[in-house]
Amino acid sequence: MELPKEYNSNQSEKKWREYWIKEKIYSFRPDSKAKTFSIDTPPPTVSGKMHLGHAFSYSQQDFIARYQRMKGKNVFYPWGFDDNGLATEIFVEKKTEKIAEHMSRDEFRKLCLENTVEVEKEMLASWQSIGMSCDWDLHYRTISKEVQAISQKSFLDLHKAGRAIRKKDTTTWCVKCKTAIAQAELEDAEKETRFVYFKLDVEGTKDKITIATTRPEMMPACVAVFVNAKDSRYKNFVGKKAVLPILNRTVPILTSDIADPKKGTGAVYFCTFGHYEDVEFFRTQKLPIIEILNTNGTLNENGGPYKGVHIKKLRPQIIEDLQKLGRVEKIVPLRHVVNVHERCGTDVEFLVTNQWFIKYMDLRERFLKAGEELKWYPPHMFHRLGHWIKGLKWDWCVSRQRYFGVPIPVWYCKKCHAEILPDEKELPIDPLKDKPKGKCPKCKGTEFEPEKDVFDTWFTSSLTPEIATSLLGKAFMQKNIPMDLRPQAHDIINFWLFYTLAKSIILHNKLPWKNTMISGYALDPKGEKMSKSKGNIVEPSAVLAKSPADALRFWAAGSVLGEDLPYQEKDLLTGHKFINKIWNSSKLILPQIIENKGEEAKDLRAVDRWIISKLNNLIRDSTEAFDNYNFSKVKRDV
Ligand SMILES: [Zn+2]
Ligand SMILES: [Zn+2]
Repeated sequence: MELPKEYNSNQSEKKWREYWIKEKIYSFRPDSKAKTFSIDTPPPTVSGKMHLGHAFSYSQQDFIARYQRMKGKNVFYPWGFDDNGLATEIFVEKKTEKIAEHMSRDEFRKLCLENTVEVEKEMLASWQSIGMSCDWDLHYRTISKEVQAISQKSFLDLHKAGRAIRKKDTTTWCVKCKTAIAQAELEDAEKETRFVYFKLDVEGTKDKITIATTRPEMMPACVAVFVNAKDSRYKNFVGKKAVLPILNRTVPILTSDIADPKKGTGAVYFCTFGHYEDVEFFRTQKLPIIEILNTNGTLNENGGPYKGVHIKKLRPQIIEDLQKLGRVEKIVPLRHVVNVHERCGTDVEFLVTNQWFIKYMDLRERFLKAGEELKWYPPHMFHRLGHWIKGLKWDWCVSRQRYFGVPIPVWYCKKCHAEILPDEKELPIDPLKDKPKGKCPKCKGTEFEPEKDVFDTWFTSSLTPEIATSLLGKAFMQKNIPMDLRPQAHDIINFWLFYTLAKSIILHNKLPWKNTMISGYALDPKGEKMSKSKGNIVEPSAVLAKSPADALRFWAAGSVLGEDLPYQEKDLLTGHKFINKIWNSSKLILPQIIENKGEEAKDLRAVDRWIISKLNNLIRDSTEAFDNYNFSKVKRDV
């Protein structure tokens, strides 16, 4: 047998990729006697295409899958798509140049379904092109009926356990996406702003009190002015009232440590709610709430003369009005950090609305303990989870006022407002289309209001261990949770890893997996994060047009797990050369192996024994390194 002189990666990779799929080389064998190694493959969000960061982290998890197979394990390595939720909606809106609000929910859902099916085909081909060895027949979509049923079932269980509760409460809100969002969906953004100093009259006196704020547009929601009790400048004002200009409404002047004598004028006005911290502080006070925002960001009747104005446009307008009245003392430009919605970059607001929450603040210690029980590769990544859990502020708001998601399976009795839940056997349901079976158990009423909201996409994707293993039936699921491995990137420890862990602990009181491996980021050649705005994105398709997938994987193996890795073309060239080296050595060795017919060699020379011992050392060290997910060491040693 003669190998061609040159290795043709284009032909070879395509040929073997097709062979793997056709011959089901990587299929999981349910009746095998071999030990199972189960992987909770991250289902990519259907919101575009594969980027280099994906190629990087999925290659790394694939190294582990292939290593486990080499060890003789029966590897359960399914594939899925997370194809519902806000990211998918925004993607479909952009792609089709249509807007969800301009059509019925049914029409928009249909549009999303059609488009996701199409994009998923392209995405699947991309992931296959990097040599992933998943069992592509073990395939799920989070919007499928089966997954909807699993998601809704978890809601019924949480409800039964008293963990899913509906309450009217303050939530972070995106006025662009017009939905409540969770703490995990906030991102810090540094922005230019202005610190506005303006004067308020103190009622019944000739005195004025100057407050400093970055959010003058929140004035209609002002409920108090605070000064520090130790601040002698304001001693005589405490207990009096301040008059809000333009609105001519009075608010009490109170004392609190939130007023820092060294910051601004030492006096602040308190609005419900201008900042994240305000909500926290508010919960400790007896103050009224003045809601000024509609869900789309315009002011309601509490806005007085500003009713109907959008909150984003109000700031310059109110500053101008204050200036006209001679109330503005000074304006200081400032750079500060604000919370924005990570999907769209809009500054978040705070609205008091009816939402569904998963009550879990009392379980933080339990979550921390569970996080410690999990084996982390690399170990230091645990601290990110620990830090997140310790910083949790509110229960998890899981309802979204959106369209393309798993419906929340509840109706409300029109007469007594009781929450009516379906029977488990009826799932999945859409309360907008389906009706409860029977009457209201409380008042025998027969008229119901459907819940219109859908679940946060993480509510469903936090069930991937159940979703994936249930592809092979309930018995398989019960036997294989905890799964062996959750691979994922570090940027979603706060979301996907935390939510999966939390739900597993609440619902089953056990870990969802035994091990987790956390990948870093793929950076641009200068070591900077890639982003569209910087124009430094390296497309994997462009890389693969020039280099073999093996060279890309060779590059991805170059970083210690968890560390970021700059993309360097020279690494791919080295990879390409390395592949040729293996090819050439194979050409040399193959005829001899064939000639030798696999018989053990006799009369080894010293040099043979030396090289065999080197090889055995390498195998031993590489095995140990791979067992610790240290593939970059294996690469170096080889
Ligand atoms: Zn948004
Ligand atoms: Zn009723």
